[in-house]
Amino acid sequence: MVKNEHNHVKSSSISNILEIIRLEGMISRVEIAEKLGLTTASISKLTKKLILKDFVVEEKSEKKSSGGGRPKILLKLNSEVGYLIGVYLAPEKIQVLLSDLNLGIIKRDSKSIKKVGKNDILAQLYSMLDSIISEVPNEKVFGIGVAMNGMVDPIEGVSIFSPHYNWHNFYLKKELEKKYKLPVIMDNDVRAMALGEMKFGAAKGQNDFVLINIANGIGSGIVIDGRLHRGVNFSAGEVGHLTIDSTIEERCSCGSKGCLELLASNWAVVKRAKSKIESKGESKYLLDKGDSLDVEDICHAANEGDQLAREIIEETAWYISLGIRHLINLLNPGMIVLVGKLNTCGDLFYKELGRLIKENALIDPIREISIKPSFLEDDAATVGAATLVLENLFKGRGIVKV
Ligand SMILES: [Zn+2]
Repeated sequence: MVKNEHNHVKSSSISNILEIIRLEGMISRVEIAEKLGLTTASISKLTKKLILKDFVVEEKSEKKSSGGGRPKILLKLNSEVGYLIGVYLAPEKIQVLLSDLNLGIIKRDSKSIKKVGKNDILAQLYSMLDSIISEVPNEKVFGIGVAMNGMVDPIEGVSIFSPHYNWHNFYLKKELEKKYKLPVIMDNDVRAMALGEMKFGAAKGQNDFVLINIANGIGSGIVIDGRLHRGVNFSAGEVGHLTIDSTIEERCSCGSKGCLELLASNWAVVKRAKSKIESKGESKYLLDKGDSLDVEDICHAANEGDQLAREIIEETAWYISLGIRHLINLLNPGMIVLVGKLNTCGDLFYKELGRLIKENALIDPIREISIKPSFLEDDAATVGAATLVLENLFKGRGIVKV
């Protein structure tokens, strides 16, 4: 085996060992060896490195080992050995988060974007980052993960195109690394959300699932065999542009007709609600909201028994169920996780969505699918961004050299 391959095997083992310790809380070397199919001797050698670097600490178990005698020595993650920063550059706001190695959140901040010029956005980001990084010793920060709206090249760290910021081929990773002298890892926001939910949220233990983010656009993060699927140009997962109803005349931003985004995104739901109020005018609750009406108001009214609001939520569930059925038929995932304001509808929305998907399913994979709301909710993208740093920590030139 050449040296590089050898190092690669060792670094992926280190990463797997840490992942097992993190998931189990406390675990013995023998149990890790069994789980990874490696010898106890090689696990001892690798965990020694982790102990020396303070990533892992030993703790005596209360229970005696199976043969009696000495108490078992267990290993646990030293989550305070260093810190992770997660950034979400969202369409209308910037979120930052500081966490320990176990994604225990130490501090978070969120501010709406005041001015949309590139320098203004960067100035706002720097001020939020400066403040959150000052919470812990600088040398203990392992890196900055960035979840970025739009198309992202995660290898070069480039915002290829952000329609919300009007950025084209902007080397954000380079800018941030120059300023903070820290490793910066970037990915698209919805993919970061999927990573966060897979490691710390609703999709824990799921190797095949799709996360759908329903906001003013609709995007998805696709996980196949435990890995994010990006596509050749990093644009996989554009579920918002699946054709759902080609009979409608309105054109989508992508140039097509009948896209899911035109029917079920936040603005589309509010627009449909306003037009129904105009023609039917039956909902006093929704009428009272006037121009400020949003999806959360419609969810609330539907749960209060407002018929018009219920009709809107049921229609939205129908459109989303059609999109999900395409995904299920294509990918056969074990789970669909939804992020967005529609989650505030709760059971009312999920029962209807589940019913529509099951009723119209001919094959078993569709009947068995689990559809869940995001667990991380508003933290999904920042937790995912911090997870990008965590994953990078033990790879290649990462912090733990092997
Ligand atoms: Zn479209």
